[in-house]
Amino acid sequence: MPPHAHALEHHRLAGIGWLRAGVLGANDGIVSTSSLIVGVAAAHATHANIVLTGVAGLVAGAMSMATGEYVSVHSQADSEAAALDQERAELAVDYAGESRELTDIYVRRGLDPKLAARVAEQLMAHDALGSHARDELGLSVTLRARPVQAALASAVSFAAGALLPLAVAALAPARYLIPATVTVTLAALLGLGALSASAGGANAWKGALRVAFWSALAMAVTAAVGALFGRIGI
Ligand SMILES: [Zn+2]
Repeated sequence: MPPHAHALEHHRLAGIGWLRAGVLGANDGIVSTSSLIVGVAAAHATHANIVLTGVAGLVAGAMSMATGEYVSVHSQADSEAAALDQERAELAVDYAGESRELTDIYVRRGLDPKLAARVAEQLMAHDALGSHARDELGLSVTLRARPVQAALASAVSFAAGALLPLAVAALAPARYLIPATVTVTLAALLGLGALSASAGGANAWKGALRVAFWSALAMAVTAAVGALFGRIGI
């Protein structure tokens, strides 16, 4: 494999990671907002209230996704920073011991001890913390935790997903609102499910049907609860 291919592979993997996070976020947005809309519509709410519910669901969902993602990725960033600080301190206190540790890692990976020691020595001379971060802690610059980007990405993908059933609810005539929302939602989820599965190298059809089945179930349960509340007149 040509030398730059590894960098391309790294970027492709990072890209797939972002794609899948985006698809999952959009999935959440579509499923939760369409279920909300179908549930409130089944309770015979007015058209204005149905659309309002959709808007509230979009904003609340996007904010909660962003908050959850920010908090979880930030705690990952915190533990990465703490591990790097500890590594920096160990290097300052026991450089020779750290060099032996790195040598052992390369020997376990298959290098003969002499070569491993030379590789460790040269890499540490070039960038001691970087080589330990990469080869001992498994931290890579391309996959570093970025809480703000992750929070923004999940809020945007959720909102983008939620916009679809919301647009259908806003535009569809009242008596076609539920079937139109369900049809458009399931079609979009089939497409996203296939995209996400094939991006990860899995069977597109299986991925699509799995997402569509569980989403249809979520909408059906919410519609049933909505119809029940509508009947008892709450
Ligand atoms: Zn170390």
